[in-house]
Amino acid sequence: MSLQNLYPKSVEILRHVLGAENYKNIEKYLHAYDGSARSVKPVAKYITIYWVGRAADRIILRTEGEDDIILSEVCDVGVPTIPFRKLKAVCLRRFMQFARIQWEMYSNTIKKNAGYDNDYDFLTSCAIAVGIAGAKKGVLHGRCMMCPVDVLMGATSAKTSYTLVGRFVGDAAYALTPNIERRTGSSVGEITNTTIMITESATEEERRTGGLFSETNTEPRTLFVGKIVLFMVSPPELLHVLWLLARDTRVGAEVSIKGTLEMYPVAMIGDLFEVGTAYKAAERAHGIKKLEDARKEIVEYLKNVRFSTATDVIEFTSDISGRLQGVNILDEEVVVELWKNARNYVKGVEEYIRAK
Ligand SMILES: [Zn+2]
Repeated sequence: MSLQNLYPKSVEILRHVLGAENYKNIEKYLHAYDGSARSVKPVAKYITIYWVGRAADRIILRTEGEDDIILSEVCDVGVPTIPFRKLKAVCLRRFMQFARIQWEMYSNTIKKNAGYDNDYDFLTSCAIAVGIAGAKKGVLHGRCMMCPVDVLMGATSAKTSYTLVGRFVGDAAYALTPNIERRTGSSVGEITNTTIMITESATEEERRTGGLFSETNTEPRTLFVGKIVLFMVSPPELLHVLWLLARDTRVGAEVSIKGTLEMYPVAMIGDLFEVGTAYKAAERAHGIKKLEDARKEIVEYLKNVRFSTATDVIEFTSDISGRLQGVNILDEEVVVELWKNARNYVKGVEEYIRAK
């Protein structure tokens, strides 16, 4: 079944947001899940999205221990680095909160039209059903293995015979300048009753009985370059990711990144493989302090590394961002397409396992 048949509304919106030509370009790297085993077999379809981040205040990347600050060497200097798993954790929580709103608004339609039949109690076992999911550090309450979040972001559960492989992956984000501030602080350790940090001891635990800590901040306005890769992504999934990225410009003040990082998607490209690396892009844009300059450099970088199999580089112009912000993502048809897609994905996986 074609993209148009399975996801008419998402396709229509993507076409409107990206423009007809850009959509036509990216279409062959979008994937259709019709519930068949065949549809979940891995094929080479990757959509790579580059983004620029800007520290909107002091960002703490590491808060305890010693000499384990996350720095990477770019152009011979150590620059602050945000591991992808931290960025993903933020995106995952946002997507969960959002999927939960969708379920609350349209559960009846989703049950009826998305193919979940009467089997709709599954959600109670999923972290997305828990209102406070993500409010506390590290709180995840198990996964249902059937909702759009689990299907895109990946999940495992002891209850199912399958694993959902995450199709939302990416690179660490690298700062373009080495703007680091280091502060030390102290507190009285409960065991030794002193602030002395014992650094000679063999185990990590002993070393931490002391109360000295160091904080490494990146200074406000520091720019970062990062990359997200979507593998075999369907139109409603791409639409949701773009919408979440364009809307949620601020990540942080939660989980292990503390502080505010504004995220600006820069460009997107489809190909048989991932295109380029955030590291190379950061090398190329190293030293840049202006957001607009960084954007231009990344676009140039992408134009240089793309292979002939790739789509054109689709820039997220202010026109595209503006249209994206105008999208009604809580449109009932869009919501049903997203959930039906997840249901079909799981059907395909189950079918695939049986067939093997
Ligand atoms: Zn779930």
